[in-house]
Amino acid sequence: MSSEPKAFSSFHDAHTIFGMISSRRAALELIAFYVESGADAAIRETPLDRMAETPALAGARPDVPAARSGEEPAHIARSDAHSGQAKAAPRAAPPASPEAAIMAAREAAKSAKSLDELRSLLVAFEGCALRATATQLVFADGTPQSRVMFVGEAPGYDEDVIGRPFVGRSGKLLDLMMAAIKLDRETVYIANVVPWRPPGNRTPTPQETAICLPFIRRQIELADPDILVCLGGPAMQTLLGIKEGITRSRGRWFPYDTGSREIRALATFHPAFLLRSPLQKRFAWRDFLALKKALAARR
Ligand code: URA
Repeated sequence: MSSEPKAFSSFHDAHTIFGMISSRRAALELIAFYVESGADAAIRETPLDRMAETPALAGARPDVPAARSGEEPAHIARSDAHSGQAKAAPRAAPPASPEAAIMAAREAAKSAKSLDELRSLLVAFEGCALRATATQLVFADGTPQSRVMFVGEAPGYDEDVIGRPFVGRSGKLLDLMMAAIKLDRETVYIANVVPWRPPGNRTPTPQETAICLPFIRRQIELADPDILVCLGGPAMQTLLGIKEGITRSRGRWFPYDTGSREIRALATFHPAFLLRSPLQKRFAWRDFLALKKALAARR
């Protein structure tokens, strides 16, 4: 039998294996193997013996360490520290199924009377497993009273560390694109469909997206922009219900019902795509000019 490690579900399995590996070099090789495989976040400090899982534990979430009494989980504390905003709402038990999580998300989102409240509800929301692997909630950046709201797919590594959307390489490009039509983070509001970073920057699953959808819809309704700009195909398909790809749909105006009124929505290429395919920037430029014109036309 080969002694080479094959596949491990997460970093914490590595702890168990470290106990068996005596040489420091072998341990470093193992970490390199994990990183190469796309694992880039430690989920737990201590190993979890899944073979010893009792029926009582089986119903509990395996991915979230139980909070010690009187102590909030680290990721809640970090989120609040970053925002300096309202303390998290009291936490409810995690929903029992994805359907229950979607229902819980709808109820929670509907109950939010302000963006601050919505943020607090998201911080406390137990229904999306991504919160367990993310460093913190990435709620929004910019000015909520702006006439334009940009929505991307999900935070990446830099956003997860800093706690604000579009602060990495694609965010820098977005800043340049906005500056070209005299917009900046003072004059726009920015968020993502999914507010937690998926591990290894993978694409959010349809289930994760469905669970987060009521929150971003409510966020748009509460921010109440005149124009919604979907950055990339996934944000466009999720928010506008469009089936066709971004290449066909970009640059076109669509109606968007916020729940309170109908506004205009535009889809354009995601800046991360433009970094990989710079020739497509000319189309994004056209879209941004259309946005500029629409903003100038309606005051
Ligand atoms: N990509 C996104 O869709 N959102 C971010 O916040 C960053 C990168």
